[in-house]
Amino acid sequence: MAQPTLEEFRRWLQSEIKDIEEIEESIDKAKRLLQLEMALQEAMVFDAAWEMRTEASIDPVIREKSVRLLSSAPESESNITSMGICTSCDAEIDEDLEFCPACGENR
Ligand SMILES: [Zn+2]
Repeated sequence: MAQPTLEEFRRWLQSEIKDIEEIEESIDKAKRLLQLEMALQEAMVFDAAWEMRTEASIDPVIREKSVRLLSSAPESESNITSMGICTSCDAEIDEDLEFCPACGENR
């Protein structure tokens, strides 16, 4: 049998939230809701991080080009200043990234 996907996990969390929202107010309900919402948040963070890694490893050059096409001149200047160097492999990394796309090292 196939493994459940991230999308299915998200849908399950959302349906759990919906179910629990219908029950009476209580501390347990509040706790459970918080738990589910945090899990949903984490699922989204994971999804975004996964996408970034995938894009970075497939073709970082194409990604770079599309950024330049969309942004104006002053913005591309700030892109240059916001580049950092990976402490692990010396690759250039965007300051916004939480990990190095070349070696996966966390910053
Ligand atoms: Zn690195």
